[in-house]
Amino acid sequence: MPMVTNGARRTIELKLDRRGVQDRPPAMKYIDEYRDSKLARAAVDELARVTTKPWVLMEICGGQTHTLMRYGIDELLPAGVEMVHGPGCPVCVTPLETVNKAIHIASMKDVTLVSYGDMLRVPGSDTDLLRVKASGSDVRIAYTPMEALKIARANPNRRVVFLGIGFETTAPANAMAVYQARREGLKNFSMLVSHVLVPPAIRLLLGSNGNRVQGFIAPGHVCAVMGYWQYEELARDYHVPIVVAGFEPLDLLRAILMLVKQLEQGRADVENEYSRSVTREGNRTAQKLMERVFEVCDRKWRGVGSIPASGMRLRPEYADFDADKIFGLEEVTAEEPPECISAMVLQGLKKPIDCPAFGIRCTPEKPLGAPMVSAEGACAAYYQYRRPLGVPEGDTAGERKR
Ligand code: SF4
Repeated sequence: MPMVTNGARRTIELKLDRRGVQDRPPAMKYIDEYRDSKLARAAVDELARVTTKPWVLMEICGGQTHTLMRYGIDELLPAGVEMVHGPGCPVCVTPLETVNKAIHIASMKDVTLVSYGDMLRVPGSDTDLLRVKASGSDVRIAYTPMEALKIARANPNRRVVFLGIGFETTAPANAMAVYQARREGLKNFSMLVSHVLVPPAIRLLLGSNGNRVQGFIAPGHVCAVMGYWQYEELARDYHVPIVVAGFEPLDLLRAILMLVKQLEQGRADVENEYSRSVTREGNRTAQKLMERVFEVCDRKWRGVGSIPASGMRLRPEYADFDADKIFGLEEVTAEEPPECISAMVLQGLKKPIDCPAFGIRCTPEKPLGAPMVSAEGACAAYYQYRRPLGVPEGDTAGERKR
């Protein structure tokens, strides 16, 4: 029996008809087809037909969390099929130590710190990079690390440091910047590296006592670089289905359908919903470049703690470009603020609205934790798209009173 409620139908009509393109051929080549309300309704109806019991699924990537929230997809799911949100927001998992180090480096007179924009508002222990910039330090926003190289070439008297964070998606470009700097013999460029890897985080979640997740949506952009062969071992070891998916509403609905079908049939395979961008082997050229410049290391994830072999750092032959070594910051540690429960949110153990500070003491204007800042943060997604019960349309979560 279909389990889609009237409220859910209204949501899909409201949220998808705005973008829905009708009477198109079934082949999906362009962006509109991935937001087609007819196809979305068909997927929701099929999901309701095949679901016979409750399932808990996790989307790893924060970009996918935002799509779920923005289009109300989690509200369309059959009763009992629950989405929990994973640790795949690069800004959110960057350790507090790294933020503090970046702030320390940026405060030096002869340094230009270059960073992705999202990192500027992430709270460090005492301040953030935006405040440091406002107080006169040279902090610049870039879309790629190659922009930092340009700044270094143009300013030979300044030390230029790029804050190189992120998952496997940003690692190839960061590796290329360091590789290129070495080839050119640039002496005033370095990188503060805090890269993280997805598969070890999934393994940690699956091995934890409180784990409720029975199926995973793997991040399509990470798999475009790395392929999905690494996920086959996880699916086998933990008997958990994994579906690689893109970032559009239909990508996610189809991935959820594929996961539920596997679970209902007792299967635990790796399937690829995002075949228009992802192959099993991934981008070997990008992987080789990463392997040349980076090596795998243990990495601390903000809120979560240290995960073995879950990060990448510069290889010893690139030590001259390693800001941690150049500025003597390798031993810096920091304590997380006690009020922020992002560790629970990032592991799917709590939802952002379970946090007592959500929308009251923690808002995008005054964030207590990184998940409220980042464009991929789960707390920011709930704040932006999910009004709490009883709050009229047009109101925002931040204006509610408790
Ligand atoms: S709402 Fe704010 S304080 Fe609560 S978990 Fe999210 S970022 Fe942390």
